[in-house]
Amino acid sequence: MNDGSDSLRVCELFRSIAGETTRAGRPATFIRLAGCNLRCNWCDTQKAWEEGSLLALKDAIEILSSTPDKLVIVTGGEPLLQAGTLELCRKLDISQLDEAVGIILDIKPPSSGQQDEMDFDNIIRLKPGDELKIVVADREDFDWACEVIDMHKPVESVNILFSPASDLLDPKKLAEWILNAGKEIRMQLQLHKIIWPNEPEGFQILDESADCE
Ligand code: SF4
Repeated sequence: MNDGSDSLRVCELFRSIAGETTRAGRPATFIRLAGCNLRCNWCDTQKAWEEGSLLALKDAIEILSSTPDKLVIVTGGEPLLQAGTLELCRKLDISQLDEAVGIILDIKPPSSGQQDEMDFDNIIRLKPGDELKIVVADREDFDWACEVIDMHKPVESVNILFSPASDLLDPKKLAEWILNAGKEIRMQLQLHKIIWPNEPEGFQILDESADCE
């Protein structure tokens, strides 16, 4: 994986409607970084496992700052595997964007097969306004996720988001479990999958055939 901080390995760069988190529904530009150290059983983003294309950090900033969107979403895979990611966020924070960098921490439950790889200390590192997201595939996941929240207690103003794993859990079931749990959990559906059910979401900015190296 790339370990320079002046470039990034990028899978795709596109404009779309934010499908998740409290930003759901907002127009956004996404940069999906290559590389993931996990292998979730139900991964729907296997393109992030690939090498991607090398893009200079300055070019990435220029592209991200030139779209009409005030929201940029840096996603993966695991964006923090690349040294350039923090630099990208720092630079975007002081560019034309109108809001500070916020963290969306994704915790993988037992159905992913990756729960033992999680660093739960990251939950207490979240700051007010950050978000904690858990995809739930079954009742075991739900109970596990509730226990994780009870044990690691994110600060009160961290948004806790549960979403049903696509094609694995009926959203109605998750809604019922949340209502009965009596916890401050926000349910979310992946809006982009409703808008673009069987096709790539949004509009690509980088031509996939372009050689960025
Ligand atoms: S973390 Fe995301 S990209 Fe990586 S394996 Fe899991 S679902 Fe796929």
